[in-house]
Amino acid sequence: MTDDGIILKINSYREYDQLITFYFRRHGKTSVVARGAKRSRRRFIGLVAKFNHISCELKKGKRSTLMELEEGSLINAPMANAQAFESLLYGSYLLDLVLHFTQDQHANSRLFDIILSTLSGLATNKNPEGLIRRFEWDILTIAGYKPELNHCVRCRNVRDQNKNATFYVQDGGIVCRVCKPNIKNGHPLSSDTIRLLITNDEIIGEAAKRELGKILPEFIVYQLGRPLPSLAILEETIWHAQATTPLQKIASLPEKMEIPVATD
Ligand SMILES: [Zn+2]
Repeated sequence: MTDDGIILKINSYREYDQLITFYFRRHGKTSVVARGAKRSRRRFIGLVAKFNHISCELKKGKRSTLMELEEGSLINAPMANAQAFESLLYGSYLLDLVLHFTQDQHANSRLFDIILSTLSGLATNKNPEGLIRRFEWDILTIAGYKPELNHCVRCRNVRDQNKNATFYVQDGGIVCRVCKPNIKNGHPLSSDTIRLLITNDEIIGEAAKRELGKILPEFIVYQLGRPLPSLAILEETIWHAQATTPLQKIASLPEKMEIPVATD
């Protein structure tokens, strides 16, 4: 059997083997054994690395129900020449999202294409945060966790398209102005950002990134019911660092001193 897939995860398996988890175009998320991959890498030289897109020849395993990787050839290594460490962090988070929001052997060719195109985009490090916000939205939608943006999650009234809303993570969607006083910890969500999310393929700009950066990661962790280490690393190393301007990092600055802030 042949299929092409993206490597999500690599684990040690038995003494000499590796267990590689792929997201395959036609077979979805599947773990396969690469026999002897740890002992002699000659068969799989340059192949077995996270993010790699590989054309695979697979066969039925002799010793278990797991498939075995018979042969492989590299189609693309999108992150091999990633232009920034940042890209790798975003890419790792993307792979984690695929691992957690897909079921074994459930193929989705649209998701497969979105993974490929997002990884390619991340490798260039142009608007990686915007790309990852779009990916979060897409995978939540495909996995059946799409947040409710059309109706108030409390009273079910249809959203006023010209008014800003409040997003409530615990209820998985927006609440209207009438219901808003009854909730705590809501996040502002503008009508512009909602429009952008609903319209596929639109680039996520600065204002939307700020709003969605507070909503989507929190929503994802809430849905998973546990923290995601790759997300925590991103938050610590990239997002928190961005929220602080270089001037603010100088602890000795007087608190009320005006600090230039980048505008859109
Ligand atoms: Zn309401």
